[in-house]
Amino acid sequence: MRDRDEPRTHGRLPPETTLSLLSNEVRASILWQLSEARGGDGPPPTLSFSELKALAAPEADSSRFNYHLQELVGPYVERVETEEQWGNASRPIPRMAGDPEVGYQLTPEGTTLIRTIRAWSAEAATDRELAIDHDCDYCGTTLTARYENAILAIECPGCEYLYDYNLTPPGVLTGVDDEFGDVDDADVLDRAAEYNRTVRLAFARGVCPYCGNGVDAEFQDPEDTGYPRGDRRAALIRRGCSHCGNKDNLTVGELLLREPRVISFCLDNGMDVTRTPIWEIEFAATDRHTTVRSTDPWAVAVDVTFGDDRLTLVVDESVTVVEEEGGA
Ligand SMILES: [Zn+2]
Ligand SMILES: [Zn+2]
Repeated sequence: MRDRDEPRTHGRLPPETTLSLLSNEVRASILWQLSEARGGDGPPPTLSFSELKALAAPEADSSRFNYHLQELVGPYVERVETEEQWGNASRPIPRMAGDPEVGYQLTPEGTTLIRTIRAWSAEAATDRELAIDHDCDYCGTTLTARYENAILAIECPGCEYLYDYNLTPPGVLTGVDDEFGDVDDADVLDRAAEYNRTVRLAFARGVCPYCGNGVDAEFQDPEDTGYPRGDRRAALIRRGCSHCGNKDNLTVGELLLREPRVISFCLDNGMDVTRTPIWEIEFAATDRHTTVRSTDPWAVAVDVTFGDDRLTLVVDESVTVVEEEGGA
């Protein structure tokens, strides 16, 4: 009987055992070559034993190679044994004389592992300043944007307010079709804005964007969070995933970007919040229109205004909208 409290990976092994399987060059090469063969489209390719060995470890003794390959079968690699399964391969499989009728491909877990490594890999130094055309809502100074150590930071050099500070994979700077260096600043910012919106909205909607688990929610006094210019912030909502450890801090305005009422009110007033970078959406990027009505329990109001048109939403301790005014 399996102990319910003991986690098992999708490949039915304890997580640490699954990690320990990776500590070998031949195995690492097998996983990488199976991923390389994929080439970005189609279903996972299936490679025959000989083809995989020729790519991953041509010098290795066959039985030693097979030993390492079989160690990966289950958690990271699956054997494909029937003609029908072979048919799922994305390209014709070269059959060599004497090959067993068996092929190998990455499992979803193996694909995810390699995809994570690829997502955080880049072919050149990535740190760079990015030209940005947006002024600070507080002091009017033009913002600065910098990508450094996998963090996209957008801030105001005039008053130090931080508009965005997000872990963002270097894929946002990488050229499509491996043309590194061809991505201009505007494209990088567009991609980073979309990537971060996706992450933020998943947290706003209560789902971990990495593992799909639910996330908890807790209001925090901004002065306790270490953010610069905490004095300019009214409230932050920390949402965290107890399953994978992923977490994020959201302004109440960012939380409200999930609300159809807000999306349609903004659209009626000429702003598409599903496309506009969050750092350009004043009620989400700053707390200038956010009012803390109480802290025990928390109740926080956000005014979304366009000229004389105003929509006010109040969010309670459970991060649910409990009141709505205006916006007619
Ligand atoms: Zn400023
Ligand atoms: Zn998670």
